[in-house]
Amino acid sequence: MPAGTLFIVATPIGNLGDLTPRALETLRSVAAICAEDTRRSGQLMSHFGVSTPLLALHEHNEDALSQRVVERLLAGESLALVSDAGTPLVSDPGFRLVRAARAAGIKVSPLPGACAAIAALSVAGLPSDRFTFEGFLPAKASARRETLQRLAGETRTLVFYESSHRIAESLADMRAAFGDDRPAVLARELTKLFETVLDGSLANLLAQVEADDNQRKGEFVVMVQGAGDDMDARLVEGRRVYALLNEHLPPSAAAKLAAEITGAPRKALYGS
Ligand code: SAM
Repeated sequence: MPAGTLFIVATPIGNLGDLTPRALETLRSVAAICAEDTRRSGQLMSHFGVSTPLLALHEHNEDALSQRVVERLLAGESLALVSDAGTPLVSDPGFRLVRAARAAGIKVSPLPGACAAIAALSVAGLPSDRFTFEGFLPAKASARRETLQRLAGETRTLVFYESSHRIAESLADMRAAFGDDRPAVLARELTKLFETVLDGSLANLLAQVEADDNQRKGEFVVMVQGAGDDMDARLVEGRRVYALLNEHLPPSAAAKLAAEITGAPRKALYGS
C-alpha cells in the first residue's frame, strides 16, 4: 500500500470566497483534517458542506499527534492540515508535523491561498523585492523593544503581525526604535468588512491609531520600510554595533568586526 499525502491547505483570512476550489475538493477527499481549533475549523467546514473528521492539533499535543498522523499516512491514508486562518505554519502550528512527515518520507503537498503577510505586502506600496517576516513581536515590553532595536538597521521591508491589544504600544515602540519619519503601512481586517490600509510616517500612523478607537480593532499587519541603505544609516548602525562589541573586545577588534557586520568604514568606528 503506497503512503498517503499530507496536504497543507490555506484557508481564508476573512472573506470565505478566498477558499480555492482545489482546497475544497481536497478537504472533502482526505481521511481527516488536522486543525488548530476544531470548533473554528468546524464552522468553516460546515459552511462549505465538508463532513471530513477533524483532529485537534495544537502547540501542546503536536508531537504526540504528529506520530499518530504519520502512522496513518504510512498506512496509505491522505490527511490535510489547516490553521484557524490563512496559511498553516505562518505564525501557526504545523512545523513539527511537517518535519515528522518529511522525515518519514511522506509526500507533503501545499495548497496555496490566503496569507495575511503576503496580502498586506501586495497592497502596501513599500519595497517588496526583499522583505523580512518578523511575525509577532514579544509580548513583554522590554523584549519587544530589544527586538526592535536589533532591527533598526535592517534595510529590507519589515513585516509584523499584531493584535488589537497591543497595536498602539507596538507602534509607539517602533517609532522609538526606527524614528518618527520612517514610512510604514498598517493593514487592518484584510478581506473583511472593515478592511483599512493606512500609510504614513510611524509618528503619523501612531497618531491616527490613537485618535480613533476603531483603528485599534481587529487584526493587523504592520509593515515598516527598511532603513535607508546610505552611508549615514551604516554609520549609525556601525557605531551601535561597535559600542556593543567594545564591551567585550579591544577597540581595534570591535571596530574591525563592526565594520564587517555593518559595512561602515572601520576608521570611522574606531574609538567612536
Ligand atoms: N497563518 C496566518 C496567515 O497566513 O496569515 C496568520 C495566523 S496568526 C495566528 C494571526 C495574525 O495574522 C493576526 O493577529 C494578524 O496579525 C494577522 N492577520 C490574520 N488575518 C488578518 C486580516 N484579515 N487582516 C490583517 N491581519 C490579519
